[in-house]
Amino acid sequence: MIYCVEDERNIRELLVYTLGTTGFEAKGLSDGKELKKALKEELPELILLDIMLPGEDGYSLLEELKKEPCTSEIPVIMVTAKEAEYDKVRGLEGGADDYITKPFGMMEFLARVKAVLRRSKKHASKKEYCFKGLTVNVERHQVFDRDRAVELTLKEFDLLRYLMENKGIVLSRDEILEKIWGYECAGETRTVDVHIRTLRQKLGDSGFLIETVRGVGYRIGDS
Ligand code: CA
Repeated sequence: MIYCVEDERNIRELLVYTLGTTGFEAKGLSDGKELKKALKEELPELILLDIMLPGEDGYSLLEELKKEPCTSEIPVIMVTAKEAEYDKVRGLEGGADDYITKPFGMMEFLARVKAVLRRSKKHASKKEYCFKGLTVNVERHQVFDRDRAVELTLKEFDLLRYLMENKGIVLSRDEILEKIWGYECAGETRTVDVHIRTLRQKLGDSGFLIETVRGVGYRIGDS
């Protein structure tokens, strides 16, 4: 998913359309407010960020994105109008990955997008997973249901992490057993059900994010 934050409708639609024809899923957002709303639903692989926006401008949004652990790793390409010269230093110091000046050719635009995505995929070992109100920090072994810290046992944490790593994919009980408990528990799929139940309880408001797919297994997030 690529978010295109741009208040000029024609440009926004053109960006989304061009990305779409190249096989990228893209969503157009007209200002910072819409961006923030969208980020709560789904974190994109890339954000195209116009600088001159109504309300909060692109520089300020960039700063916020880089401050927040959930969004700080998302690459950002700044989009600037030719007449309002881009402040390269400000953008780069703010953590932007690249910038592009309007009007731009679509071939150049796509080349930039692909280059930034390639670079970001190289060091993409994820340290934190966020989905809706649920945050799993792998490095610090912390889980949050919105602002509330959730205490989990080691197995519960591993189970949740496994589900988050495979967001949108249904994992069978056997797969989960083998991955989290190893072979010694082969066949005892009830172990998985019991842990899923306590995990849901402990996650509170975020518990519903773990879906039961009847006859198959469990999943976080839709496919
Ligand atoms: Ca603008």
